[in-house]
This record gives sequence, structure tokens and C-alpha cells, in this order.
Amino acid sequence: MSNFESLGLCNDILKAIKNEGYDRPTPVQELAIPLLIEGRDVLGVAQTGTGKTAAFALPVLEKLSFSKSPGKRNIRALILSPTRELAAQIDQRFYVYSKYMDIRHKVIFGGVGQKPQVQSLRKGIDVLVATPGRLLDLIQQGHVNLDYVEFFVLDEADRMLDMGFIRDIKKILKILPKNRQNLLFSATMPSKIADLANSFLNNAEMVDLSPNEITVERIDQAIFFVRKEDKVKLIIDIIKENQVERGIIFTRTKHGANRLVKKLDRANISALAIHGNKSQGARTRALSLFKNGSTPLLVATDIASRGIDVDDVSHVFNYDLPNEPESYVHRIGRTARAGKGGTAYAFCDESESGYLVGIERLIDQKIPVIDGHPYHFTKAIPKPNQRPGKIKNSKNSGNSGNNKNARHRTRRRRRRRKNNSQ
Ligand code: AMP
Repeated sequence: MSNFESLGLCNDILKAIKNEGYDRPTPVQELAIPLLIEGRDVLGVAQTGTGKTAAFALPVLEKLSFSKSPGKRNIRALILSPTRELAAQIDQRFYVYSKYMDIRHKVIFGGVGQKPQVQSLRKGIDVLVATPGRLLDLIQQGHVNLDYVEFFVLDEADRMLDMGFIRDIKKILKILPKNRQNLLFSATMPSKIADLANSFLNNAEMVDLSPNEITVERIDQAIFFVRKEDKVKLIIDIIKENQVERGIIFTRTKHGANRLVKKLDRANISALAIHGNKSQGARTRALSLFKNGSTPLLVATDIASRGIDVDDVSHVFNYDLPNEPESYVHRIGRTARAGKGGTAYAFCDESESGYLVGIERLIDQKIPVIDGHPYHFTKAIPKPNQRPGKIKNSKNSGNSGNNKNARHRTRRRRRRRKNNSQ
């Protein structure tokens, strides 16, 4: 295993990361940093919690320190991130890592006034971290000049896709100078992301740290089969019986998150909701109370929680199972960060057993079941022929009747997902 000194980083950066207490590079840093310093494009398959921010921020800073733009500062590194929270966290990392350097960085995102952002842009910055919508807005108003961009980082590309940012990203890509170094990070690599990567990466090196090889194995996972109406009682019991120092509870809807916070409150359990309907101020407040330990529990929807950079999350609760299996991996990745362990509990009611099958298939393991609780509900357990490994591949079965049923099942499931997400 290498150390930071051997990765080719300058003393100012080494000093800053030493202050942060980083002893050794994480696997993604060990692989990506030398490639990026060498000037290669990189396609990184890694999720939040692996140290991926430093994997791109450190080499970007390293290279910027050696190539000063003449005269006024110009944006030389552009980092796109899907959510405001994540963008702010990346910018905060740049602050930490560039502490001993003459680098100006700024984050811009929507939902807040643009005036201070425009003022900073006018003064000149080296590193811009942005969400796609606000960036395009400011470009269209003539406040952002991307002519000098040397590094382009697309972070959490799969989430960008989920959130409908793909067209915005394509617009931004068209504006960027041709001659630049590119980096794309994604927790998963569906074909749409691979296509996007191919469209702008040049001869990229792949750094693959897929979740089932890393975080998942350090997390104690368990599943509870429970009726929908008993979930509240079960979570209250679990929280009261376990030492949940810092936990994130995932619900499928914003409404569900608000409802759960109220019910927890009635049981004297303090929690705050974080989701897209909350103002930026409320989200930031909730996050800082969670970070400083005043509020031990956050109740979050997937999008709002994305990239929450909080260490020492002891528990993740999948109060509702996500309908996309990848979201399960993202969610449980909030715990067990930077080499630590964690606990991830999931609740599965009768309507969610199909989702569980998909999740267990993706992570390629069966999640242990906890059944010694008063709310155990056997009807929620997937039927034996639904369990992973026993699912027939309908394409190869040669039985057209089965294929037809499979198609109906898929359609029904899709309809159910649609209804659930409304
Ligand atoms: P990230 O995946 O970039 O969100 O990083 C997850 C967490 O790991 C952050 O809190 C970082 O400060 C921390 N971290 C990143 N690199 C290292 C390292 N080499 N050693 C210890 N902690 C790290």
C-alpha cells in the first residue's frame, strides 16, 4: 500500500491532508491520483464514502499549482455535482485541501440568491463547483466564462441521470474547450452512463471500486419483515433498544418523511426531515444539527440525502425499501465510511418483497433476517421462487407462457413503482 508522499503531491497539499488526519490514501485515491497527475482521463466507479472527492480534488490542485493562468484568475477546474449539499461539501473539501495554496474556489447552486455568486465570479476564481441548473443559468446571463477550463469533473453521474440533468450536462459539455482533462465518477455504471462517458472521455482509464467489493462488506445488514402499519412501532423499538448515535432513516416520499418525524417526536425521539420541499436554509440547518450531534436522526428521501458527507453514521434505516436496487447501495453507503463499520436495517412489507429480490441480486448476497420481534410478518417474505439465484431467466427458458407472465409481472411492478413514487 502506498502513502500520499509517493503519489506525487506537493508539500502544501501533503501538509493539508496531514492536518486532516489522513494517514494513507484510500483505494480510489491510490489508483486515480497518479493517473490524473499523469494527465489521463479517468472513469471512476466509486460511491460517496470511498474518498473519491480527494481522489479528484488533490490532483486538480496539484496541477493547478503548477500552471498559473496569466492576469486575472480564470476558471480552470469545473466540478459538476447533482445536489446543492454535495456541491457545498466538495467546495468545503477544496477549502481544506488548498489551505496552504493560493487557490480561489467557489460553489454555486440554485435555491439561493445569485448575487454573491456573481460577485465571486467577477473577482475571479480557479475552481468552480456547481450544480448544472444554476451554472447554465449564470452562463446564459453571461456571468461565467468556461474558456479556460483545463479539468472537468462530472461527479455522481448516475444521480445526475436520475435527476434529469443529462441535457444540461450535454449543453455544458458543448461550451467547454476541447483540450481538457476529464473525470467521471459514478456509483453504478448503467449503459446510459457508459454512453455518456464515451461521449466525452478520451482514452480513459477505468478505476473500478464497485460497491459490492467495498463498503457493503463492512456493513452489518439485516432485514425485518413487517406490515406497513407496524413500521413506526418497530423503528421506535429499535431506536430505543439500540445505541443509535447517528442514524439516517430513508423514506420513499417527502410526505412519508414528515409524517415519520412527527410520529417519532410523539415517542420522544428527536429527528429532522431533509428533503426537496424544505428550503435550503432548513436543509443546511438540519444537516449542521445532525453533524454536530444535536439531532441524532435524519429522516431523508434519496435525492436530498445524496452525498451527505457526515462521518460516523452508525445506522442507516431503509424504512421503505427503494424501488431502484442501486439506491439501496447508495443509502447504506452513508454508513461505514472511510474504513469504518456500520449497521443497515431494512424494513420490507408485503408490497416491497419484489424490491428486496432486486436488491439481493444486485449486492449478490442474502440479507440476514431478524424475526425475533413482535411485528414479524411472514407474508412479506418473498416466495421461494422469487429469491435470488432461483429466478428463472425468462429469455432462455424456452417457455413462452412463462415469458408472458414475466412481462405481466414486470408491467405490474412498474405500475406499482409509479404509484408508489407519486
Ligand atoms: P468522500 O468519499 O470523498 O465523500 O469521502 C468520505 C470521507 O472520507 C470524508 O469525510 C473524507 O474526509 C474522508 N477521507 C477521504 N480520504 C481519506 C483518507 N485518505 N484517510 C482518511 N479519511 C479520508
